[in-house]
Amino acid sequence: MKKKVCRNCKRIVEEETCPGCKGNQFNSTWQGRISVLDSKNSVVGRKMGISSEGEYAIKSR
Ligand SMILES: [Zn+2]
Repeated sequence: MKKKVCRNCKRIVEEETCPGCKGNQFNSTWQGRISVLDSKNSVVGRKMGISSEGEYAIKSR
């Protein structure tokens, strides 16, 4: 199954519902990915407003 990106929180998901924000709006076109393992201490995570661990897309549309 192709991975897609949640429009709301940018999390990369395979499910039909985003496990992070429970949203169901997704983008299938995205570029780059970052893994946030420790959201409290991740500079990138803070910059992107990420509040939970997971994989996120850098760019999506
Ligand atoms: Zn989400």
